[in-house]
Amino acid sequence: MSTLTIDRLTVGHGDGAPVLDGLSLEVPDGALVALLGANGAGKTTLLRALVGLLPARAGRVLLDGADLSALSTEDRVRRGLALVPEGRSVVVELTVAENLRLGALRQAGRPRRGPAVDAAVAEMYELFEPLARRRDAAGHTLSGGERQMLALARALVSRPDVLLLDEPSLGLAPLVVARLLGVLRDQAEATGLTVLLAEQNVTSALSVAERGVVLSLGEVVADRPAAELAADPALRHAYLGF
Ligand code: ATP
Repeated sequence: MSTLTIDRLTVGHGDGAPVLDGLSLEVPDGALVALLGANGAGKTTLLRALVGLLPARAGRVLLDGADLSALSTEDRVRRGLALVPEGRSVVVELTVAENLRLGALRQAGRPRRGPAVDAAVAEMYELFEPLARRRDAAGHTLSGGERQMLALARALVSRPDVLLLDEPSLGLAPLVVARLLGVLRDQAEATGLTVLLAEQNVTSALSVAERGVVLSLGEVVADRPAAELAADPALRHAYLGF
Protein backbone atom coordinates (compact mmCIF):
# COMPACT_ATOMS: atom_id res chain seq x y z
CA MET A 1 0.00 0.00 0.00
CA SER A 2 3.06 2.22 0.21
CA THR A 3 6.55 2.43 -1.20
CA LEU A 4 9.36 2.56 1.33
CA THR A 5 12.49 4.35 0.18
CA ILE A 6 15.74 4.28 2.09
CA ASP A 7 17.98 7.03 0.82
CA ARG A 8 21.69 7.01 1.72
CA LEU A 9 21.04 6.10 5.34
CA THR A 10 23.94 6.20 7.79
CA VAL A 11 23.37 4.63 11.22
CA GLY A 12 25.62 3.56 14.08
CA HIS A 13 25.46 2.67 17.72
CA GLY A 14 26.62 5.34 20.18
CA ASP A 15 29.90 6.89 19.06
CA GLY A 16 30.97 3.77 17.18
CA ALA A 17 31.77 3.49 13.49
CA PRO A 18 28.66 3.46 11.32
CA VAL A 19 27.02 0.07 10.86
CA LEU A 20 25.19 1.29 7.75
CA ASP A 21 27.04 3.87 5.70
CA GLY A 22 24.93 5.55 3.07
CA LEU A 23 22.63 2.59 2.42
CA SER A 24 19.94 2.97 -0.25
CA LEU A 25 17.12 0.56 -0.95
CA GLU A 26 13.56 0.66 -2.25
CA VAL A 27 10.73 -1.62 -1.23
CA PRO A 28 7.94 -0.95 -3.75
CA ASP A 29 4.27 -0.81 -2.96
CA GLY A 30 2.94 -4.30 -2.26
CA ALA A 31 6.30 -6.04 -2.62
CA LEU A 32 7.72 -8.64 -0.25
CA VAL A 33 11.47 -8.15 -0.07
CA ALA A 34 13.78 -10.43 1.91
CA LEU A 35 16.64 -8.73 3.74
CA LEU A 36 19.38 -11.32 4.08
CA GLY A 37 22.81 -11.39 5.63
CA ALA A 38 24.89 -13.18 8.22
CA ASN A 39 24.90 -12.37 11.92
CA GLY A 40 25.95 -8.79 12.46
CA ALA A 41 25.36 -7.70 8.84
CA GLY A 42 23.17 -4.82 10.03
CA LYS A 43 19.63 -6.08 9.47
CA THR A 44 18.33 -5.26 12.95
CA THR A 45 20.12 -1.92 12.90
CA LEU A 46 18.37 -1.02 9.64
CA LEU A 47 14.90 -2.03 10.82
CA ARG A 48 15.28 -0.14 14.08
CA ALA A 49 16.48 2.97 12.24
CA LEU A 50 13.51 2.81 9.84
CA VAL A 51 11.03 3.14 12.69
CA GLY A 52 13.14 5.75 14.47
CA LEU A 53 14.30 3.59 17.39
CA LEU A 54 17.87 4.37 16.34
CA PRO A 55 18.75 7.86 15.09
CA ALA A 56 20.11 8.20 11.57
CA ARG A 57 23.33 10.18 11.30
CA ALA A 58 22.56 11.02 7.68
CA GLY A 59 20.14 10.09 4.94
CA ARG A 60 16.38 9.82 4.71
CA VAL A 61 13.51 7.38 5.13
CA LEU A 62 10.56 8.08 2.83
CA LEU A 63 7.08 6.65 2.63
CA ASP A 64 5.44 7.33 -0.73
CA GLY A 65 7.89 10.15 -1.17
CA ALA A 66 7.13 11.82 2.18
CA ASP A 67 10.21 12.24 4.37
CA LEU A 68 9.72 10.56 7.77
CA SER A 69 13.26 11.21 8.98
CA ALA A 70 12.36 13.94 11.46
CA LEU A 71 9.40 12.03 12.93
CA SER A 72 9.23 10.15 16.23
CA THR A 73 8.64 6.40 16.28
CA GLU A 74 5.02 7.00 17.28
CA ASP A 75 4.45 9.30 14.32
CA ARG A 76 6.10 6.87 11.90
CA VAL A 77 3.76 4.14 13.16
CA ARG A 78 0.86 6.53 12.72
CA ARG A 79 1.94 7.02 9.10
CA GLY A 80 1.69 3.27 8.55
CA LEU A 81 5.02 1.64 9.47
CA ALA A 82 5.01 -1.34 11.83
CA LEU A 83 7.92 -3.35 13.24
CA VAL A 84 7.69 -6.88 14.62
CA PRO A 85 10.97 -7.05 16.53
CA GLU A 86 13.01 -10.17 17.08
CA GLY A 87 11.85 -12.17 20.08
CA ARG A 88 8.09 -12.63 19.65
CA SER A 89 7.09 -9.61 21.66
CA VAL A 90 3.61 -10.03 23.05
CA VAL A 91 2.12 -8.85 26.33
CA VAL A 92 2.54 -12.06 28.32
CA GLU A 93 0.11 -11.07 31.08
CA LEU A 94 -2.73 -10.61 28.59
CA THR A 95 -4.67 -13.26 26.70
CA VAL A 96 -4.42 -13.82 22.96
CA ALA A 97 -7.72 -11.99 22.45
CA GLU A 98 -6.61 -9.06 24.59
CA ASN A 99 -3.31 -8.76 22.73
CA LEU A 100 -5.17 -8.67 19.43
CA ARG A 101 -7.73 -6.14 20.61
CA LEU A 102 -4.87 -3.94 21.76
CA GLY A 103 -3.36 -4.08 18.27
CA ALA A 104 -6.73 -3.46 16.63
CA LEU A 105 -7.57 -0.34 18.63
CA ARG A 106 -5.41 1.76 16.39
CA GLN A 107 -5.35 1.82 12.65
CA ALA A 108 -2.83 4.22 11.19
CA GLY A 109 -3.33 6.46 14.19
CA ARG A 110 -7.11 6.46 14.13
CA PRO A 111 -8.78 4.95 17.17
CA ARG A 112 -11.26 2.20 16.33
CA ARG A 113 -14.08 0.83 18.44
CA GLY A 114 -16.48 -2.04 18.96
CA PRO A 115 -17.53 -3.75 15.74
CA ALA A 116 -14.48 -2.63 13.75
CA VAL A 117 -12.16 -4.06 16.40
CA ASP A 118 -14.16 -7.31 16.60
CA ALA A 119 -14.08 -7.72 12.83
CA ALA A 120 -10.36 -7.11 12.64
CA VAL A 121 -9.69 -9.65 15.42
CA ALA A 122 -12.00 -12.23 13.81
CA GLU A 123 -10.05 -11.87 10.57
CA MET A 124 -6.84 -12.77 12.42
CA TYR A 125 -8.46 -15.91 13.84
CA GLU A 126 -9.20 -16.96 10.28
CA LEU A 127 -5.62 -16.38 9.22
CA PHE A 128 -4.11 -18.02 12.30
CA GLU A 129 -6.30 -20.89 13.36
CA PRO A 130 -4.12 -21.91 16.36
CA LEU A 131 -4.73 -18.47 17.83
CA ALA A 132 -8.49 -18.92 17.55
CA ARG A 133 -8.24 -22.13 19.55
CA ARG A 134 -6.17 -20.41 22.23
CA ARG A 135 -7.93 -17.05 22.30
CA ASP A 136 -8.43 -17.10 26.08
CA ALA A 137 -4.95 -18.37 26.93
CA ALA A 138 -2.49 -15.98 28.59
CA GLY A 139 0.52 -14.94 26.52
CA HIS A 140 2.98 -16.66 28.82
CA THR A 141 1.38 -20.06 28.27
CA LEU A 142 1.82 -19.97 24.47
CA SER A 143 4.41 -22.02 22.59
CA GLY A 144 7.16 -20.20 20.68
CA GLY A 145 5.30 -20.65 17.42
CA GLU A 146 2.02 -19.41 18.85
CA ARG A 147 3.77 -16.38 20.30
CA GLN A 148 5.34 -15.49 17.00
CA MET A 149 1.97 -15.89 15.27
CA LEU A 150 0.46 -13.58 17.86
CA ALA A 151 3.23 -11.01 17.40
CA LEU A 152 2.60 -11.05 13.65
CA ALA A 153 -1.20 -11.03 14.00
CA ARG A 154 -1.00 -8.13 16.43
CA ALA A 155 0.97 -6.13 13.89
CA LEU A 156 -1.34 -7.08 10.98
CA VAL A 157 -4.50 -6.25 12.90
CA SER A 158 -3.46 -2.59 13.05
CA ARG A 159 -3.44 -2.68 9.22
CA PRO A 160 -0.03 -1.16 8.58
CA ASP A 161 0.98 -0.11 5.07
CA VAL A 162 4.55 -1.32 5.53
CA LEU A 163 5.46 -4.23 7.79
CA LEU A 164 9.05 -4.73 8.95
CA LEU A 165 9.86 -8.13 10.44
CA ASP A 166 13.02 -9.09 12.27
CA GLU A 167 13.81 -12.81 12.09
CA PRO A 168 10.29 -14.14 12.61
CA SER A 169 11.46 -17.73 11.96
CA LEU A 170 14.09 -17.79 14.71
CA GLY A 171 13.80 -20.96 16.77
CA LEU A 172 10.58 -22.15 15.16
CA ALA A 173 9.79 -25.54 13.63
CA PRO A 174 9.86 -25.61 9.80
CA LEU A 175 6.11 -26.19 9.54
CA VAL A 176 5.36 -23.17 11.72
CA VAL A 177 7.79 -21.06 9.68
CA ALA A 178 6.09 -22.14 6.44
CA ARG A 179 2.69 -21.21 7.82
CA LEU A 180 3.83 -17.80 9.10
CA LEU A 181 5.60 -16.83 5.92
CA GLY A 182 2.70 -18.15 3.85
CA VAL A 183 0.33 -15.81 5.67
CA LEU A 184 2.70 -12.93 5.01
CA ARG A 185 2.89 -13.67 1.30
CA ASP A 186 -0.89 -14.02 1.06
CA GLN A 187 -1.40 -10.72 2.88
CA ALA A 188 1.02 -8.94 0.59
CA GLU A 189 -0.81 -10.35 -2.43
CA ALA A 190 -4.35 -9.85 -1.15
CA THR A 191 -4.06 -6.47 0.55
CA GLY A 192 -1.07 -4.84 -1.10
CA LEU A 193 0.85 -4.82 2.18
CA THR A 194 4.51 -3.90 1.66
CA VAL A 195 6.89 -6.19 3.56
CA LEU A 196 10.58 -6.04 4.42
CA LEU A 197 11.49 -9.39 5.94
CA ALA A 198 14.87 -9.72 7.68
CA GLU A 199 15.81 -13.37 7.88
CA GLN A 200 18.76 -15.66 8.39
CA ASN A 201 16.58 -18.50 7.17
CA VAL A 202 17.48 -17.73 3.57
CA THR A 203 15.69 -20.61 1.88
CA SER A 204 12.37 -19.91 3.59
CA ALA A 205 12.61 -16.16 3.05
CA LEU A 206 13.42 -16.51 -0.66
CA SER A 207 10.58 -18.97 -1.13
CA VAL A 208 8.02 -16.24 -0.35
CA ALA A 209 9.84 -13.05 -1.42
CA GLU A 210 9.92 -11.55 -4.89
CA ARG A 211 13.29 -9.98 -4.33
CA GLY A 212 16.22 -10.61 -2.04
CA VAL A 213 18.65 -8.01 -0.79
CA VAL A 214 21.90 -9.26 0.73
CA LEU A 215 23.63 -7.10 3.33
CA SER A 216 27.23 -7.60 4.29
CA LEU A 217 29.00 -5.32 6.74
CA GLY A 218 26.22 -2.78 6.32
CA GLU A 219 26.37 -2.70 2.51
CA VAL A 220 24.01 -4.03 -0.12
CA VAL A 221 26.10 -6.61 -1.98
CA ALA A 222 23.23 -8.09 -4.01
CA ASP A 223 19.71 -7.00 -4.90
CA ARG A 224 18.11 -9.53 -7.24
CA PRO A 225 14.96 -11.55 -7.93
CA ALA A 226 14.49 -14.17 -5.21
CA ALA A 227 14.66 -17.14 -7.58
CA GLU A 228 17.96 -15.92 -9.01
CA LEU A 229 19.52 -15.48 -5.58
CA ALA A 230 18.30 -18.88 -4.42
CA ALA A 231 19.99 -20.45 -7.43
CA ASP A 232 23.34 -18.73 -6.93
CA PRO A 233 25.54 -21.00 -4.79
CA ALA A 234 28.59 -18.72 -5.05
CA LEU A 235 26.70 -15.80 -3.58
CA ARG A 236 25.11 -17.92 -0.89
CA HIS A 237 28.50 -19.31 0.02
CA ALA A 238 30.21 -15.91 0.09
CA TYR A 239 27.67 -13.97 2.11
CA LEU A 240 25.15 -16.26 3.65
CA GLY A 241 27.36 -18.98 5.04
CA PHE A 242 26.05 -22.09 3.30
P1 ATP B 1 21.62 -10.49 13.90
O1 ATP B 1 21.00 -11.43 12.98
O2 ATP B 1 22.66 -11.08 14.77
O3 ATP B 1 20.64 -9.62 14.65
P2 ATP B 1 22.02 -8.24 12.19
O4 ATP B 1 22.27 -8.40 10.75
O5 ATP B 1 20.63 -7.89 12.60
O6 ATP B 1 22.47 -9.53 12.95
P3 ATP B 1 22.84 -6.00 13.75
O7 ATP B 1 22.25 -6.54 15.00
O8 ATP B 1 22.18 -4.87 13.09
O9 ATP B 1 23.04 -7.17 12.69
O10 ATP B 1 24.35 -5.64 14.08
C1 ATP B 1 25.19 -4.91 13.17
C2 ATP B 1 26.45 -4.44 13.88
O11 ATP B 1 26.08 -3.52 14.90
C3 ATP B 1 27.22 -5.56 14.57
O12 ATP B 1 28.59 -5.30 14.37
C4 ATP B 1 26.85 -5.41 16.01
O13 ATP B 1 27.90 -5.83 16.83
C5 ATP B 1 26.62 -3.93 16.15
N1 ATP B 1 25.63 -3.62 17.19
C6 ATP B 1 24.35 -4.08 17.23
N2 ATP B 1 23.69 -3.58 18.31
C7 ATP B 1 24.59 -2.81 18.98
C8 ATP B 1 24.53 -2.01 20.17
N3 ATP B 1 23.39 -1.92 20.89
N4 ATP B 1 25.63 -1.34 20.53
C9 ATP B 1 26.77 -1.41 19.79
N5 ATP B 1 26.90 -2.13 18.66
C10 ATP B 1 25.83 -2.82 18.25
